[in-house]
Amino acid sequence: MSCGDPHDTECGEVLDHLYEFLDNEMAEGDCAKLRVHFEECSPCLEKYGLEQAIKALIKRSCGCDDTPADLRGKVLARIDSIRSGQRSGESRPVAEVTAEDTAGHGAASTLAASD
Ligand SMILES: [Zn+2]
Repeated sequence: MSCGDPHDTECGEVLDHLYEFLDNEMAEGDCAKLRVHFEECSPCLEKYGLEQAIKALIKRSCGCDDTPADLRGKVLARIDSIRSGQRSGESRPVAEVTAEDTAGHGAASTLAASD
């Protein structure tokens, strides 16, 4: 995964150490390198933000530091489906609303006609 722009630290290296960074297990110098990279590279920042959110969510719900791999997968899959749903959901049919409107007008015009 890469945004295509050159960085002092490779995207692959950043992602390799992402969990160490999240767990505060990195040397301060390496942390600084990752922070600089996140400012330059939005795909890595997004990945970092996502992992951080999942970690916080799981810590809150089960009180453990270790994220079970299957749970992480489920959360990521859920996020993926939400995202793709948002993208393809723009052309939702308004058939239900239209049908209700039509029924209302139909009833009104029936009353008017019976006059
Ligand atoms: Zn990157």
